[in-house]
Amino acid sequence: MKGLMMNTQLMISSILRHADKNFPHREIVSVTADNPRHRYTYADFAKRSRKLANALASMDVQFGDRIGTLAWNDYRHLELYYGVSGSGLVCHMINPKLFPEQINYIINHAEDKILFVDVLVMPLVEALHSHLKTVEKIVVLTDKQHMPDSKLKNLICYEELLDQFDDNYQWPEFDENTAAGMCYTSGTTGNPKGVVYSHRSTVLHAYAGSLPDITNASCNSVTMPIVPMFHVNAWGIPYAGIMVGSKLVMPGPKMADGETLHSLIETEGVTNSSGVPTIWLALLDYLDKTGNKIPTLQCVTAGGAACPRNIIKRFKLDYQTDVKQGWGMTEMSPLGTVFVLSPGMENLTDDEEIDLRLKQGKSVFGVEMKIVDEQNNELPWDGVAFGALKVKGPWIATGYYGMSQTPGDKDCPVDSDGWMNTGDVATIDPLGYLQITDRTKDVIKSGGEWISSIDIENAAINHPQIAEAAAIGRYHPKWTERPLLIVVPAENTNLSSAEIIEYLQQKMHKWAVPDDVVFIDELPHTATGKLNKLALREKYEDYQFP
Ligand code: ADP
Repeated sequence: MKGLMMNTQLMISSILRHADKNFPHREIVSVTADNPRHRYTYADFAKRSRKLANALASMDVQFGDRIGTLAWNDYRHLELYYGVSGSGLVCHMINPKLFPEQINYIINHAEDKILFVDVLVMPLVEALHSHLKTVEKIVVLTDKQHMPDSKLKNLICYEELLDQFDDNYQWPEFDENTAAGMCYTSGTTGNPKGVVYSHRSTVLHAYAGSLPDITNASCNSVTMPIVPMFHVNAWGIPYAGIMVGSKLVMPGPKMADGETLHSLIETEGVTNSSGVPTIWLALLDYLDKTGNKIPTLQCVTAGGAACPRNIIKRFKLDYQTDVKQGWGMTEMSPLGTVFVLSPGMENLTDDEEIDLRLKQGKSVFGVEMKIVDEQNNELPWDGVAFGALKVKGPWIATGYYGMSQTPGDKDCPVDSDGWMNTGDVATIDPLGYLQITDRTKDVIKSGGEWISSIDIENAAINHPQIAEAAAIGRYHPKWTERPLLIVVPAENTNLSSAEIIEYLQQKMHKWAVPDDVVFIDELPHTATGKLNKLALREKYEDYQFP
């Protein structure tokens, strides 16, 4: 017997329609290149998204065409999220900080038909323009007054475009499995690969993202996504936040500017915010330097890379703000796990609690996970055994755009057992808390044992005279690989390799202590701010242990 319930399709436009009806007066505040503090309401946002849908319909596009965006976190980008996907087109968010050759590849591979670009990205677009094979129109996200002088002909001004259309638009309903959005992984190995989100996956992910233990977003919260909208949909906050009627505060191009972030938190009363660890360092350093406080900020979510203990500690002890760690991937929309304290953990000391918060958390309902050994045997959830982490669920990719969708194929991230291989190595404890110990390709395989490069880095970074550290495996004649630590010393210090090794010997298992330490002025990072270990392995390819 079948259930007798309506098979209403899960549409991104339904989030917007719901928000417009229920929270018309809620505010969206943005920093843009043309306005340091733009503000309008959900009702204005919904109206302009409908105007945009009408504008797009006039631009000779077909259902399913890809529309590229090169833009920061602001209200116009938000209108594109809804106007493009809602009208049956695919919103392709492109990271302007990638290498130009990668951006060129991505736009051509996705066959973007129209590009919507921030004024600040215009020099890049001008440089790439002649290589873009499918782009027919470029719309600059600004008003007439701020249109850039450009050698490109026929640029369209976004505000002038919207002015030509009214807001009478009926959002179409179609199959919920239709493509809605696209993001390319940053591709530290090989070309970037396109992940394609559907309306269904996006709406389910938004439901999950708004649960109390995940973001705690509500119509009474003020949410500031600092994680960029071009990086895995700003972790889904533009959908989850709007779904529940949260006031949204969008920092535009000022994502790493401690002063702007603090000013937005203080004046807009931000209660929740999300970003990668480097952003939090910028904010904490600014606060420490100026003595400013952030009393409204109850919780920050840190993800995208392991969150250093120091960030969790400084937020908790100096500013009474909880850091929730989250783990996920572009291929997972990105929500996988989020850290939340369990009942019975109320009486932990600060240090014990901070240590626990180093774990990436429990899986969100919708994401199943398992860890396996090299023969694909499932490993126990005992907090000790570590193996390759695999996941499955309705917002996890079946494959990449234009590549094999057959489980088990070389180019398909899903293995023949139907689970997606995350490329991460992890432990899971008996309570279900996941801890990422490494990337499969970064783990150091020494004499048959695996050493976590992240553990070494976390221990090193706690040394007050170390600003940043990276551990990589290098060839060793006896052990195949041994850890080499690469350190950026803090300013005005002259720490020696021997002192660092001695320090680490107190902090970690003898076997995991690096055999050598080398110093460097700056570590290479990927466009999303992660350590670029591939570049480091290439740089130290010929390194030999003493
Ligand atoms: P990229 O495009 O760089 O792959 P993703 O955001 O998709 O960007 O990267 C996903 C990877 O980032 C994960 O597989 C994991 O290795 C790492 N990662 C994400 N969150 C965390 C975290 N909280 N702790 C440790 N590693 C993380």
